[in-house]
Amino acid sequence: MSEFDYDLFVIGAGSGGVRASRVASSHGAKVAVAEEYRIGGTCVIRGCVPKKLLVYASMFAEELNHAEQMGWTIDEAKFDWKRLRDHVNGDVDRLNGLYTNTLENHNVERILERATVTGPNSVKLASGREVTAKYILVAVGAWPYMPDVPGVEHCISSNEVFHLDEQPKRLIVVGAGYIAMEFAGIFNALGSHVTVVNRTQTILRGYDEGVTDRLLSIATARGIDFRMDSSLVSVEKQDDGSLLVDIGGPQKLEADQVLIATGRVPKTEGLGLENAGIQLGPKGEVPVDEKNATTCESIYAVGDVTDRIQLTPVAIREGQAFADRVFGKIDRAVDYDNVPAAVFSQPPLGCVGLTESQAREKFGSVKVYSSDFRPMKNIFSHTPERGLYRMITDADSGKILGIHMIGPESPEILQLAAVAIKGGLTKEDFDATVAVHPSMSEELVLLK
Ligand code: NDP
Repeated sequence: MSEFDYDLFVIGAGSGGVRASRVASSHGAKVAVAEEYRIGGTCVIRGCVPKKLLVYASMFAEELNHAEQMGWTIDEAKFDWKRLRDHVNGDVDRLNGLYTNTLENHNVERILERATVTGPNSVKLASGREVTAKYILVAVGAWPYMPDVPGVEHCISSNEVFHLDEQPKRLIVVGAGYIAMEFAGIFNALGSHVTVVNRTQTILRGYDEGVTDRLLSIATARGIDFRMDSSLVSVEKQDDGSLLVDIGGPQKLEADQVLIATGRVPKTEGLGLENAGIQLGPKGEVPVDEKNATTCESIYAVGDVTDRIQLTPVAIREGQAFADRVFGKIDRAVDYDNVPAAVFSQPPLGCVGLTESQAREKFGSVKVYSSDFRPMKNIFSHTPERGLYRMITDADSGKILGIHMIGPESPEILQLAAVAIKGGLTKEDFDATVAVHPSMSEELVLLK
């Protein structure tokens, strides 16, 4: 008999927590996972998945326009936000069920309650029950950061955007990171008037400037109103329910919704980690080493709560590696180099590796190859938008250091480009590869 109730108690049933739970269980561990909201976590319930469905739905506006030019007659195309919203949320319910089944099939006990840490090996549930575990895994993720400005209670975050009663006719998006650029694109395509309020001139900081400049010019041409060097000062609700928004300029803006997308912070408030002697970082993150171990021997943390790379596939890898290492005696490490990422803006971005400026800083001498092209479909449909692919290489060895793309389907193309970078390939390897014609991906082997 073990001295503990469980071998592993996981707090948070998101991507990292679910993976760790089921893998640990398949290695023979007795596992329970506590979740205060819905099994699936941010990615499945209120993040990547429903967002991508909204992106797909919104892209029909452009497709219908193209279709008309290509001989189709579309009588009275109409869009119904509520139908889309309910359809998306129905799919989220389906996935929530699948994730729940996965845990059940792997004999992981599901406890739908908030859990807090009371010591190195103990957890208290909202119901008052205390349980003990040999190991505790903190996988509670992150939560939208809401700035402390008057009237912020009238604003929404990406948590609420999937449940709006009405499609906002006028939407203000605060921030210009992933979430801001994705939802600006979605609502712009769906016909809302979108204003992006950004505190600097830079969108998607950290991304290659060539592709972000291109996104900015295309998004502006599509009608998104960018207010740069501006910040949210206050939000006032008017009698008719609309919002009067001060962004520091001479005139206040009117909006139906204000979506705040100014980053996400680790969700550790009130989690009790101090009871196990764990000191949080400045953003509330749980500091961990390369094995996801905290300063408390029996407590590990994976995913967004560690504030390393806030991406679902990274959390999944961390959860898998943790469970394999601790319960399967399989030595596995997560490689954080060259993690590919996509922004599902319109058009989308796909990037992996170093940007030009990062590469110059690190390697001194670099070569940049690019292709600035008009996708065939855009030529055919008289759309002026151009794609841009950029490749950054080490000038001496020719080794590829980064690939940055904007254009239709870039995230789909990026995955294989990322394999090439992981494999240490050179520009010559790309040149030696015969093009797939006619395609957009062929531009990657025709870079000049
Ligand atoms: P990001 O960190 O991507 O962007 C935050 C934006 O808000 C930046 O433009 C930032 O400006 C601005 N900002 C930050 N603090 C303030 C402030 N106090 N006042 C005004 N502006 C501010 O965060 P997101 O919320 O967009 O996304 C959170 C995380 O979720 C991302 O890091 C990403 O990893 C993940 N995510 C991934 C997606 C994907 O893979 N496709 C999609 C959506 C989210 P500045 O640049 O000046 O700091």
